[in-house]
Amino acid sequence: MEAAERRGISLKRLGGWEPITTTEYEYDEAGRLVRSWSQPESEWDQQQQAWVDAWAEYRAQRCPCGCGQRYADVTSEEEGGPQFVADRKVCRARLALLEAQKAAETQDVIGGARLWQVRMVDERG
Ligand SMILES: [Zn+2]
Repeated sequence: MEAAERRGISLKRLGGWEPITTTEYEYDEAGRLVRSWSQPESEWDQQQQAWVDAWAEYRAQRCPCGCGQRYADVTSEEEGGPQFVADRKVCRARLALLEAQKAAETQDVIGGARLWQVRMVDERG
């Protein structure tokens, strides 16, 4: 149960699923309600747990440095192992943000309170 709580919400709940709660009633011979109990559907069924386990396994195989590659590949022997080539692209949204922040750099106290955002401007039409 503790592990499930750390997982947050399930993929199916993220997709809009809500648990159906089934309530059963027990009556005595006179027809009086003597007991009732309710049981919601399990959010963390086998399918949802399988998704989380698969995701965890995928993440566990990634290199922790942030390169996005498989740990086994990046730590393999250089000879015979996969080769890597790095290239770069510029995140133009981040660039616009950094340029705007640099242009607004001040020594006053308000600088630290500014809330920045980046929005896409479609100039094509
Ligand atoms: Zn790495």
